[in-house]
Amino acid sequence: MTVASTATPTGSAGVTATRTADVIVVGSGPAGLSAALFAHRLGEQVLVLEKGATHGGTAVKAAACFWVPNNDLMRARGYHDTKESTLRFIARSARPLGYDPADPHLGLADWQYRQLEAFYDNAWTAVQTLQEMDALHTTIDSPLGVLLPDYLVLPEDETPVGRALFPMRADGTVGDGIDMINQLKAGVDRRGIPLLLHHQVTDVVLDDTGAVVGVTAATPQDPATTFSARKAVVFASGGFTHNDEMRRNFLSGPTFGGCAVTTNTGDFIDIAGRLGTQLRNMNYAWMAPLLVEKAIAQDPGLHGICLCGGDAMLWVNKYGRRITNEKAPYNEATQSFFHWDPHRAEYPNIVQFMIWDQRVADRYGFEGYGNPVPPDPDQAPHVLRAGTLGELADRIDQRLARLAPHTGGVRLEPGFTDTLRTTVATFNAYARAGKDPEFHRGETPIEPLYSGPAQEDNPANPTMYPLADTGPYYAVIIGAGTLDTKGGPLTSPNGQVLGRSGAPIPGLYGVGNCVASASGQAFYAGGATIGPIFAMAYLTAEAASREPVRQPATR
Ligand SMILES: Cc1cc2nc3c(=O)[nH]c(=O)nc-3n(C[C@H](O)[C@H](O)[C@H](O)COP(=O)(O)OP(=O)(O)OC[C@H]3O[C@@H](n4cnc5c(N)ncnc54)[C@H](O)[C@@H]3O)c2cc1C
Repeated sequence: MTVASTATPTGSAGVTATRTADVIVVGSGPAGLSAALFAHRLGEQVLVLEKGATHGGTAVKAAACFWVPNNDLMRARGYHDTKESTLRFIARSARPLGYDPADPHLGLADWQYRQLEAFYDNAWTAVQTLQEMDALHTTIDSPLGVLLPDYLVLPEDETPVGRALFPMRADGTVGDGIDMINQLKAGVDRRGIPLLLHHQVTDVVLDDTGAVVGVTAATPQDPATTFSARKAVVFASGGFTHNDEMRRNFLSGPTFGGCAVTTNTGDFIDIAGRLGTQLRNMNYAWMAPLLVEKAIAQDPGLHGICLCGGDAMLWVNKYGRRITNEKAPYNEATQSFFHWDPHRAEYPNIVQFMIWDQRVADRYGFEGYGNPVPPDPDQAPHVLRAGTLGELADRIDQRLARLAPHTGGVRLEPGFTDTLRTTVATFNAYARAGKDPEFHRGETPIEPLYSGPAQEDNPANPTMYPLADTGPYYAVIIGAGTLDTKGGPLTSPNGQVLGRSGAPIPGLYGVGNCVASASGQAFYAGGATIGPIFAMAYLTAEAASREPVRQPATR
């Protein structure tokens, strides 16, 4: 599948280059900054062009865990993984229908298997190299106080803790995405690598042989400035979360938006499409539930609900029924929104309502990890409050009426409140027993950790507690969204963007969420996006550095 192509080849040689570098990097998230650092380390003159007003991309919102198989820090703690176990774990979660442990490629497509192998073989080397460059310092400790377990629990995963690493601050404490970006950016600055903000790359420049020798970029001053690349252009421009048209046409389920940086509009899909590249994995994204109102308002501060706080808390659909494990890892919980009812011809769960009681409001309100329970509900206009479940239903329905133009007109069904009361009674019985026989809430190691501050009230199952018999009760409206998408042009394990014939397009590279991810549908562990990004950026820089020097784009 390719995006519509234009009659003329993209860009053209023979234009004046205002700036020249060996390697031009497009985008300044973790993929772009690390690729720039790796290329500079190999002696290349590097230039980074960033569309936004600030650098760092989506990672500034991230917890910035990065999943690194077979790292020294885990080995030092006595955890040993194997290539076989790691690849089987990812393969089974990435393509569950194709997974075949007897197949030499585990049932994966050739490109996918080769990328995952390259990831396993190079991720720790890449992270160590950043550390040696004083551009990223790493700890195995997590902000949650214990080593972060993987999200999916599968027999193939023989080492379910130890691969998740975090940035480490100068004082030795666990850092986050801002710390990661600050450290990478400081490394870029120390090396004198220019990073130009407000530079949206709009096209690539080709020479007579079809090799990429530069880019054009739109700036506030000039809609088409040309930059020349002697060796390579590396796209690291993020996914297409903020391109409604692409989201509607490529993603496998309806979403309300996402929390990637708002400049991630899939620019590389169009640019690469004009060159005749092959697209892969366009139907999947790194998914998370979102606050629907903030997503519709395109709030730039929007976070995915990575941590769904509270024990006396449940989600119901418009019929008042609970339909999923609310504590399931965010990518998995998001799948619950997509169920299609053929009889009614509707998505009955397209929006859901997260409901909690005063006890949860008092104990679980904090900002961070997208927790929907706010520290002060009065300061959170998206939070609805009422004295009884019936009144809460009225509030929810009034809010739904306002949102109807964006939600396909979803309203609460007649009988919602009665069904909700039954659902709450059933949930409360499960909570008292400490067992959720329908949805298995709290049964995997990650769930209590992502439940909010540890509570001792229900040792049988700390993720569940009966909702109070009396109000006040609270609710927010939630729906499906993306942290960012993970489909795009097909690349080799070295980040070379492949053309229609399968051969690399000379001089053109891609890394991160702007290209096809070998992870398929999976979000198997925290850090599953940034871990592979570092490995691929490392290999991409090596391959870009090996490119022959080409005649820069000149008039
Ligand atoms: C709330 C939240 C929490 C997360 N937590 C984690 C986590 O703990 N671990 C993890 O692995 N992942 C996490 N992620 C995901 C992670 O942040 C992304 O997968 C990662 O940032 C992708 O890196 P990237 O460099 O490919 O893209 P981005 O970080 O999105 O950077 C892309 C950059 O390219 C720029 N750009 C776009 N188009 C152009 C253009 N045409 N010209 C020039 N520049 C352009 C953008 O402005 C942006 O700065 C989280 C995401 C969110 C939203």
